[in-house]
Amino acid sequence: MSENQQYKINGLKIDPVVFTSKFRCNCRGECCNYGVYTDFAEHQHIMSLKDELIPLMDETQTRDFRQWFEEPEEDPDFQSGIAVGTEIHQGKCVFLDKQGLCVIQKNSMLRGRHKWADKPLYCILFPFTIFEGSLTIDDEHIERLSSCNREGGETYIMDFCNEELIHFLGEEGYKQLTEYRQEYLSKTGK
Ligand code: SF4
Ligand code: SF4
Repeated sequence: MSENQQYKINGLKIDPVVFTSKFRCNCRGECCNYGVYTDFAEHQHIMSLKDELIPLMDETQTRDFRQWFEEPEEDPDFQSGIAVGTEIHQGKCVFLDKQGLCVIQKNSMLRGRHKWADKPLYCILFPFTIFEGSLTIDDEHIERLSSCNREGGETYIMDFCNEELIHFLGEEGYKQLTEYRQEYLSKTGK
């Protein structure tokens, strides 16, 4: 059994790198400059909101919703088995406005819904990601961002992003994650 198969929450493997990684987040959304892969169902949901999103977009964005998403592609890391990437427009995700705000999140909040009610899961999770059935750190994306600080950070990603993890795993799942971390740290002496 490999190291990351020892820890599982709701059927999802936990890569131990999640327990030990540190991080500092201090910019206004450079991570959104590359867009994101959404599940097919998320893509459908976001498209159903287009009449709400269009009025929130500014001149740096395209209001032509046919330009918002790439072609769907198969991907087993998505619940439906199909991923759909958001397009890049003027060097950033089509949904990012000139102030560095995601109009999907902005719209949810303006309408009194939870801030992440309509946002793609991988946007909420970053700098975590799910890769081959494991919750892990999205090193590939972090490395191409000049603002993300993985080495110089003083706070554990797990603590920095606890709200995101609770949203994803639930209170019980997050509690289990912290117990796994304690167990891992005392076992490895890290
Ligand atoms: S996660 Fe990284 S790129 Fe995104 S806002 Fe934080 S520092 Fe910036
Ligand atoms: S959908 Fe929103 S949060 Fe996700 S990459 Fe685009 S602008 Fe950023």
